[in-house]
Amino acid sequence: MNKENSNIKEKTLFGMDKNPSSIEPKKLTLDSRIKFRCHPGVKCFTACCGGIKIILTPYDILQLTRRLGMPAHEFLHQYTTPVYLEKTDMPGVAIKLREEDNKCPFVTPEGCTVYSDRPTACRYYPVGMADFHEGGSRDASGKENTPEEEKFFFLVKEDHCKGFEEDKEWTVREWRADQGVDVRDEMNKEWLRLVMRRKSFGHQATLSEQAKRMFFMASTDLNTFRRFIFESSFLETYEIEEEVLEKIKEDDVELMLFSFKYLAATLFGAQFLKIRDDKIKEKTAQMKKRQDENVLRSVKEYEELKTSMEKAKTKSDAE
Ligand code: SF4
Ligand code: SF4
Repeated sequence: MNKENSNIKEKTLFGMDKNPSSIEPKKLTLDSRIKFRCHPGVKCFTACCGGIKIILTPYDILQLTRRLGMPAHEFLHQYTTPVYLEKTDMPGVAIKLREEDNKCPFVTPEGCTVYSDRPTACRYYPVGMADFHEGGSRDASGKENTPEEEKFFFLVKEDHCKGFEEDKEWTVREWRADQGVDVRDEMNKEWLRLVMRRKSFGHQATLSEQAKRMFFMASTDLNTFRRFIFESSFLETYEIEEEVLEKIKEDDVELMLFSFKYLAATLFGAQFLKIRDDKIKEKTAQMKKRQDENVLRSVKEYEELKTSMEKAKTKSDAE
């Protein structure tokens, strides 16, 4: 585990409530213009790769494990530390900073060694996105806001970041496309929604340990999740189309997207999984058997009670 630094900053992934003092109080749209450039020539090069908390999404983990050619469990052990996501009880992981200098293990003086596969949070910086739809916000009259009303962007301006002194100007849209954020947003969308949905529940409902374990496993280790689908009783219980099975057997991204739907169904009861007819029949038969047993037991208890009452009556009549 890395040393926890109480001043540690979190690169924004979930919205605006991280490092509020560095956030410019101005809502930006995709067409807003920003002046910023980050390149190896800036004085602060790699300054933002230390003393930070970088939460990893399932897609980040998938890309990094491919890049490093290591199985997820090894990657998790070597490069991550466990965290709770967004002040919820949902377990996730963040990059484990180096003991010796409190920096990201992938940074060198020459820059990021996993640059083209860097995590989503690194790509956002310094343009954050607030998407309140993830939590399902409502306006003053209680009407649910539409996604477009809820989404806006903001700048995270930290004193040490000299990128704002550079001459390059672009729109937020251009910046995001350049950083490959759009693709990441699409890949992370459903997973972020699960976390924000959980957050909107507050502490009223608790997640079972089993649900937490499943969320962690599906979010961090797709190979184990694949084994769970294909090597447990899962397919005996649920009806999954052959075409879907073919896809998730081979394709990690398809499997990841499937896992988000599976988690939404198991954590929040979303309609996605269909239980097999034979399982329903089996369950119904079990319930009926239990009911029959209960009825028989009550009949027996009633008969016993009746007999003992009759005996008591006969005895008192005789006295
Ligand atoms: S992954 Fe790369 S960009 Fe992100 S903090 Fe580490 S070194 Fe910096
Ligand atoms: S602090 Fe800003 S300019 Fe400097 S390396 Fe990080 S993002 Fe680039």
